[in-house]
Amino acid sequence: MEPFDFQSVDSVAGARAALLEHPTAQLIAGGTTLIDLMKAGVERPAVVIDINRLPLAAIDVYADRVRIGALARNADVAADPTIAREFPALAQALAASASGQLRNMATVGGNLLQRTRCSYFRDNVSRCNKHRPGSGCDARDGQSRSHAVLGTSEACIATHPGDMAVALAALDAKVVVAREGGEERFTLDSFYRLPEDTPERETALERGDLIVAVEIPFAALYRRSHYLKLRDRASFEFALVAVAACLEFVEGGTIARSRIALGGVATVPWRAHDAERVLDGATPSEELFRRAADLALHGAVTTSHNAFKPELARRAIVRALRTLA
Ligand code: SF4
Repeated sequence: MEPFDFQSVDSVAGARAALLEHPTAQLIAGGTTLIDLMKAGVERPAVVIDINRLPLAAIDVYADRVRIGALARNADVAADPTIAREFPALAQALAASASGQLRNMATVGGNLLQRTRCSYFRDNVSRCNKHRPGSGCDARDGQSRSHAVLGTSEACIATHPGDMAVALAALDAKVVVAREGGEERFTLDSFYRLPEDTPERETALERGDLIVAVEIPFAALYRRSHYLKLRDRASFEFALVAVAACLEFVEGGTIARSRIALGGVATVPWRAHDAERVLDGATPSEELFRRAADLALHGAVTTSHNAFKPELARRAIVRALRTLA
């Protein structure tokens, strides 16, 4: 790890000013993402800005939504009774992520910004367009079992590693960002950028922006939600495939509204809008769920190592929908 200066700030304005003053500065909260990357030499900030004293750890409940502060710890969000009752998929996704120790430290804001687990990105010697733009991508002809099959580009096939963001995508959450002129809200779809030919740019954040909260609206749709995570071992492991799904029914059993988001298979938390359209207004059946799953994986591009993922994802989608139905 290279030497760096350490600063502590106690206001959102102070954090933003420090980011703008030091072009390579990085914020630290729980440290579960940044310290790893600094040790690996992927991140080399000249200044590390501690934001743990900012008043952003509360989970506030309003009439129409919940607002989760960016510094709320993952373990606290997972255990919150309002979250567990109103957004089961979010509580399940958090409980299935990382380890107990990491969940106690990791924050909501940091979780949203975690970087890919592509080993070529982290080893500091491979060709990697995300780490060194324009250098190439060693994953394409290398080990790509965990890599993405949706949203990929010639430049990068790295998988978004998160669980929480996948659940948030299905729950129509907004990421609240403090920037010049006030707070701005982003859907998960607009917050994360597809890699295209600039995989080093992963989000809509600009220099000086600070994530201050995540907001999720209350609705019956989100109360009937579920997160299914499939992985190589039962704990402390990233998803091979994950599904966050919501279903709302009208009287008679017809599906009124649905949401499906996928993790482990795409370069960003992946909303399956086409699949949702085929579910909405239909009568639930195994055949319908399979049709939705086919649509969700339409256009998947695999490598020789991850060709199993589309079918695994289809089966996971059917199982998640069956669980909710
Ligand atoms: Fe880098 Fe993306 Fe290729 Fe991995 S998949 S080596 S992160 S460019």
